[in-house]
Amino acid sequence: MFTNQKIFVLGMARSGYEVSKILSSRGNTIVLNDAKEEDVQNQEQVKELRDLGVQLVFGSHPEDLLDDTFDYLIKNPGVPIDHFYVEKAKKLGIPVINEVEVAYLLIDKPITLIGITGTNGKTTTTTLIYEILNEAFPHRVHLTGNIGYPLCSFLTKIKTNDIIVMEVSCQQLENLEKFNPHIAVLTNLSPAHIDFLKSYDNYKRVKGKIFQNHTKDDIAILNIENQDVLDLTKDIKSTVKYFSSKNTINGCYIKKNQIYYYDKPILDIDKIKVSGLHNMENIMASIMVCKELDVSDDIIRKVIYEFKGVEHRLEYVTNYKGRTFYNDSKATNNKSTQIALSAFHSPIILLLGGLDRNQDFHELTPYMENVKLIVCYGQNRMKIKEYADTIEKKVEMCETLKEAVDIAYQNSNENDIILLSPATASWDQYACFEDRGIEFKSLIKEIEEKDENN
Ligand code: ADP
Repeated sequence: MFTNQKIFVLGMARSGYEVSKILSSRGNTIVLNDAKEEDVQNQEQVKELRDLGVQLVFGSHPEDLLDDTFDYLIKNPGVPIDHFYVEKAKKLGIPVINEVEVAYLLIDKPITLIGITGTNGKTTTTTLIYEILNEAFPHRVHLTGNIGYPLCSFLTKIKTNDIIVMEVSCQQLENLEKFNPHIAVLTNLSPAHIDFLKSYDNYKRVKGKIFQNHTKDDIAILNIENQDVLDLTKDIKSTVKYFSSKNTINGCYIKKNQIYYYDKPILDIDKIKVSGLHNMENIMASIMVCKELDVSDDIIRKVIYEFKGVEHRLEYVTNYKGRTFYNDSKATNNKSTQIALSAFHSPIILLLGGLDRNQDFHELTPYMENVKLIVCYGQNRMKIKEYADTIEKKVEMCETLKEAVDIAYQNSNENDIILLSPATASWDQYACFEDRGIEFKSLIKEIEEKDENN
């Protein structure tokens, strides 16, 4: 498979680079095309591919570069599904696949493959499953996929009976045909981010592809409280197992502040650092997967009680003098901040602000009940202050995140939550939301150190 063939790789990025490398080492002829100019590509990777004999065409998509002499088109997940090369390949009868499909077909050892998809919670669930399994089976587990590590880059490292934990996006599923995870998780479905797949119906159909090759020997782990998930999966061939954040069911569920696996309580919710019902769902999905691999309750408990969340996604930072700090810098819109606000029952000091994009902060109002103080900073601080005044919330205004953290701390009491969930993009003061979150965490450290030195 994949030897002596002519292959067109559309889109470089990490996965285009990895797949070209693997395929050229197998004696295929590779043409890699990317609309971005060569000088904005990773120069080391460009050199490496050129040395391997890959023909690189940067800066445009020449009309006739793709013709019927090619055996495959490998599409980067970020390239639109109706790109003219994709349409042309279909007309010419050239299969359109992607890097994941190639990697999957090239795995030549028995392994266990776990695939996680869904509208929300993919990265958190994937990370948690990886961390639990890595504790249970050290050196045998690989974290891959949409989370940032192409499966192709693991091909030379995978050993017999290893476990691959893979976040799978809808963009990837679109071009997967034989790919078959032994355990597949569908966290939830809702009509978000569907522009890429044109309609919600098409988006759901594509998400369902994660089960398309399942037989009863494969496991599907599903959120029973999500009607669209149930509708989509009613005819799948998998052995189906469920989790529920609302009801006692035959599976994983919450009862009396504990998480149960079938009849057995295995986690105390009060001991879990991450917050919110959505994170309990991510935890339950992870438990269901790890139990399929017979991981002990002790290991599950140890890892989940230590888990602080994925960085910048309602990440638990610390509890200092009774104040708990959470970094939700990834919350760049109202919807994400709504989810964060729903996650807490204690008084919240909310740090809000960033790039002004004329958004309507009134969308946050139904979630503001526990917010005792808004500290607004950044370019749009004045708009947030006006908003806070209209809903008669206490508000403090300043320019920078540093001042905002100081004000939040000075105004806090024991048992308060100090939450950075800015609801806006970071680009007024930072290169990216990651930088904003990192600064938030270092500002908290500074407060701790200053206090201790006094
Ligand atoms: P994804 O990888 O699917 O984008 P993440 O795990 O990165 O999901 O979480 C991103 C954001 O999505 C979180 O900060 C939170 O606001 C929301 N989220 C996470 N898990 C869930 C869930 N199970 N249900 C609903 N929303 C969630």
